[in-house]
Amino acid sequence: MVYLEHFCEHPLDYITAFYTSEKVRIDSCPHCHSCRRVHLHGVYHRHVIWYEEIFFIPIQRHHCIHCGKTVSILPSFCHPGFQLALPFLLELLWAFFNRIPSACALAHQHRLFISRRFLLCMNRLIEYFRICEDPLIVFPDFWHKKAIKLLEMVFSVGKPHIFAKRYYDHFKKGFMAH
Ligand SMILES: [Zn+2]
Repeated sequence: MVYLEHFCEHPLDYITAFYTSEKVRIDSCPHCHSCRRVHLHGVYHRHVIWYEEIFFIPIQRHHCIHCGKTVSILPSFCHPGFQLALPFLLELLWAFFNRIPSACALAHQHRLFISRRFLLCMNRLIEYFRICEDPLIVFPDFWHKKAIKLLEMVFSVGKPHIFAKRYYDHFKKGFMAH
């Protein structure tokens, strides 16, 4: 299981802080809700594609001594299951639906995949905004305009990771998850 937490906004700052700051602790286990201490349980690494750069960042894993399950704390600039960093992912989606061409080869490779995934996730996003912002909010019928309106709403929340964590905490899954 993954837990999203706000850390630094850039992977390099996150990496520095990871090795110099005190570790984030989890008060209760999200699996069994035991309040016995969830122990630090090793570190793994994952890739983050941050625009033109790729970082290999450490992720702290925790282990619950009560139920035996593990929890990883992911920085909120990551989306679980995606290597694309959140701000980059949203920028690619925005460019795709607004038909803004991109010279970036990496971007081109990912655009179609994430755009299809976003379309599949739109109904849950609409549900989120109706629950958390305005139950009467109206969305355009046409999928393309609907996607743009949803992205505008995501951006209007503020920094992308604030929206992503709120969404994750609400549904216990990322806004681009199946
Ligand atoms: Zn547990």
